[in-house]
Amino acid sequence: MTPIAAIQAVRAVYAELACLPLQRSCSTLTECCRFRLTGRTPYLTRGESFVAASAWRATGRTSIPRPSDGACPFLATHGRCQIYDGRPFGCRTHFCHAAGGPYRRSDVRNLIRQLETIDAQLGGCGAMNLLTALQHTLAASRQAR
Ligand code: SF4
Repeated sequence: MTPIAAIQAVRAVYAELACLPLQRSCSTLTECCRFRLTGRTPYLTRGESFVAASAWRATGRTSIPRPSDGACPFLATHGRCQIYDGRPFGCRTHFCHAAGGPYRRSDVRNLIRQLETIDAQLGGCGAMNLLTALQHTLAASRQAR
């Protein structure tokens, strides 16, 4: 599977998720983006990492900052996700209570399987934490140039 095909396939999974009849309303409070606060970090499959990296490159950047406050590196200082359209599955099914709490795994199991299948087709070895996954993907794309 090519990276472009993977990006399309992962975005199709995200679109399918958005169509599920589940009540959720992310109001971009960004509490779940503050990993030190929540003690939780999203994990990404390789295809998701391609989508996030592509969204990050679209902002004109290729390296990832390391915020000293332990927040997500994609959270802008003004408090907005800078890759919102390409944010990972975990950020879309998050545990934010204000948005409705976590999705039940049974509701999204099929979508998770699709992401895992894409990961395997890309030669991935399962989900990695956000920072590690993005560093690998961006380093690989720099080497490929
Ligand atoms: S990718 Fe965006 S939505 Fe997800 S934790 Fe980071 S800033 Fe928040």
